[in-house]
Amino acid sequence: MNILSLVRENIKNLSPYSTARDEFKGIADVYLDANENPYPSDFNRYPDPLQQRLKTKISDLKSLPTDQIFLGNGSDEAIDLLIRTFCEPAREAILITEPTYGMYKVCADVNNVEVKKVKLTASYDIDVDVILSQLNDFVKIIFLCSPNNPTGNLLSKNKIVQLLERSNRIIVVDEAYIDFANNPGLTPILPSYPNLVLLQTFSKAWAMAGLRLGMAFASAEIISILNTIKYPYNINIVTQHIAFETLGQGHVKTNQVNEIIEQRKILSEKLLEIKCVQKIYPSDANFILVKMDNAKAIYDYMITKGIIVRDRSSVTLCEDCLRITIGTPVENERILSELKTL
Ligand SMILES: *Cc1c(COP(=O)(O)O)cnc(C)c1O
Repeated sequence: MNILSLVRENIKNLSPYSTARDEFKGIADVYLDANENPYPSDFNRYPDPLQQRLKTKISDLKSLPTDQIFLGNGSDEAIDLLIRTFCEPAREAILITEPTYGMYKVCADVNNVEVKKVKLTASYDIDVDVILSQLNDFVKIIFLCSPNNPTGNLLSKNKIVQLLERSNRIIVVDEAYIDFANNPGLTPILPSYPNLVLLQTFSKAWAMAGLRLGMAFASAEIISILNTIKYPYNINIVTQHIAFETLGQGHVKTNQVNEIIEQRKILSEKLLEIKCVQKIYPSDANFILVKMDNAKAIYDYMITKGIIVRDRSSVTLCEDCLRITIGTPVENERILSELKTL
């Protein structure tokens, strides 16, 4: 598959902004080339535009070469850049599978790119033939989310592979919640599919939502284009530094993830004992989708008790469903006791 042939014409021919650090890459005593303030502080110099030190660490963790790693200001930046790379505004389209994460459509709308919607099946998996039947010459990217938000389940790997092989499109698989799944995700098959883009993030398992750091993994060809069109200094020095340090503390993340997975099981079991709860959907993420009698009323009631969950009851295939993030054991007990008094 020829990836370059899918890229927008103007993007293919673009020259990136050339930073001072692009023009002189060596080590020197005196830097007078970037109009920085010369008085030292932690922040007076611009950050590394390509985040080399941090990427080396991520490269070890994910067993991927650094030229297959893109870092963005949240994965949201990568979503936006992917749409801008491949989709001609007012002409081309993306395809999403509903229900799913809202940012794919928002970024497409901002870029005046059409959104084709295909429903997931009743068990919230993809139907390959239905997706293939909806493709036309204008659809350039298929966005999948696995584990899916807001349903919580992994999509079947074998179906994603069929799409990779049969669709002739860029397939983006958003793995924001993969650390909570008992599954390696699709990183191991990345070398086989130049049209596959994986998104991961520091916002969930790594507990750094406030720092804004997202990752995209893809063929070096695609990563190089994302690096060409991004803002030169998209990841600030503080984020680069703290993420680097936090990656050295992997055991903290692992312990928290294990605790959350354990709590997911406990909360699910205890919720099922409550009268208004109809169904808990199986989750590979740090939240559960819960079907209830009159979810909207329960949502409003929980607000009066100071507990905020996500009302998904008006979302496709999520009628009467609330999405509940797994909290600390104390927080989970609290939601259970409020629901019991209903
Ligand atoms: C939370 C979430 C993200 C994370 O986005 P960031 O911009 O990295 O914070 C990405 N995708 C999905 C599906 C999410 O739920």
